[in-house]
Formats: sequence, structure tokens, C-alpha cells
Amino acid sequence: MKIRIVGCHGGVAPGYRTSCYMINDSFLIDAGSAASALAPEKQALIEDIFITHAHIDHIKDICFLVENTFYESRAVINLRSPKETLESIHKFIFNDVIWPDFSKIYVDKDHKKALIKFVPLEQDFKFNELSIKHVRVNHPGCAVGYVIDDGKKQIVFSGDTGPTDELWKEANKCKNLKAVFTEISFPNYMDGLARASGHFTIDQLLKDLEKLENKDIPIYIAHFKPRFFEELMDEYHRLAPQRMHLLHQEDEFDFK
Ligand SMILES: [Zn+2]
Ligand SMILES: [Zn+2]
Repeated sequence: MKIRIVGCHGGVAPGYRTSCYMINDSFLIDAGSAASALAPEKQALIEDIFITHAHIDHIKDICFLVENTFYESRAVINLRSPKETLESIHKFIFNDVIWPDFSKIYVDKDHKKALIKFVPLEQDFKFNELSIKHVRVNHPGCAVGYVIDDGKKQIVFSGDTGPTDELWKEANKCKNLKAVFTEISFPNYMDGLARASGHFTIDQLLKDLEKLENKDIPIYIAHFKPRFFEELMDEYHRLAPQRMHLLHQEDEFDFK
């Protein structure tokens, strides 16, 4: 399973791109930086975006990806997430006020191909020879994480979350879990804000990881808030165990 880190930060500042992962060169988990970071040819190939939740840092580049790539032969872009999340994105972003309602704009004369389609996720969804399960996590707005299984191995993406249970239960069911991609957003002294906003500090994450039975699984960290980057790095270097790895934009993984 190939994973390219298009963007992995929890905010926007020069040089910091927000959450966007490309899986197997074919689909995205979140699209916070899909239009600003991917080459136009790559953008044109994207047909499916799995969205963890409707926060702007995870969805904003859908607006520009659609604009950058629409033409008649282009496939429809399927936005995939639980129904509540898609309804929020439709109502508050693609509402013909904030941005055009691309689900009502067609590229063909027969009006069969809209620019985007909202496709609510079913559980254990089969997709491109993968099984994709979504799991509610502890973050506002019906946020989910994903467990992606290619039949031989599994990868867990938490999306944005604070301390949570269900995701770790699902991770413990995996027979050959290769990696967990999760987040740290705030430094330890901001424990209260992290809890209130549904994010991890490093201490909270280390405590939550006690729920993951296999202690050898690599844990990849994203979503540092740019404003606290120096403090977060300092804490990370002091406290992160060996199996923890900080993600960087343009990192690429091929889990075998
Ligand atoms: Zn976020
Ligand atoms: Zn969020």
C-alpha cells in the first residue's frame, strides 16, 4: 500500500500544507492541500476523496481541485464520508454562496456528469480491492478515522482526534497492522484546549497508545499547529518513543 504525504500540518502558514494523503496513487484521504501541492496531471486523475471530517483544513482544496481539473472527459469526483459530514460540506461550502454547488454543474450536455458527487459511506466499503472501514473518533462534527485493509495488511488513519476508544479497538482487531497515522496538535501545557477541541497533546497520545496492544507498530505523527511548531518539536524530541515518526510533506511510504 503506497501512501504519499501531500500535506500533514494542522494549519496554514508559508511552507505548511494541511492534511492530505494520497493512497496507491489513486485516491485521497482529505484534501487540505490537494490543489496547492499536487501537479495538475495528478490532480486530474483524482476521482475519489475520503473525508475524515468537514473542518476547513481537511477540505478546502476540494474547491480549487474541481476548478483546476474540470473538462468533459473527466470522471466525476466522488466525495466519500458519512452522510452528516457530506451534508455539512454541501450546506456550508458548496452552497452557491461560499462556493458554487458543483454537484449541480454538469460537464456534459446530457447532464449526467456533475463536477462532484456526494457519496455517503457504507461500513466496510469495498473499493479498488481495498476494504475501507470508518470509525467515529473524538473530534467535533462527526469525525471519523479510517482502517484500510488490502486483504494482507492494514493501515489506520485517525484523522483529527483526542483520546478515543473505538479506533484502538478496531486497530487491535487488525491481523497485520503496518502503521497508525495520527496527530499531535498542541503542546502539553495546552492540555485543556486540546481536550476541548478534540486533539492530542503528546502526553495524551502516549497515554492513549496504551490501548493499542501491539507496542511495535510504527506511529506516524501529523497535524502540528504551525504556530506552536517549535514547542511541539522540542517536546517531540524529548518525549517521543522510538517507534514514533514525524511526518513530512512529500514523504512516501510503500507498506509491503
Ligand atoms: Zn485538522
Ligand atoms: Zn478538525
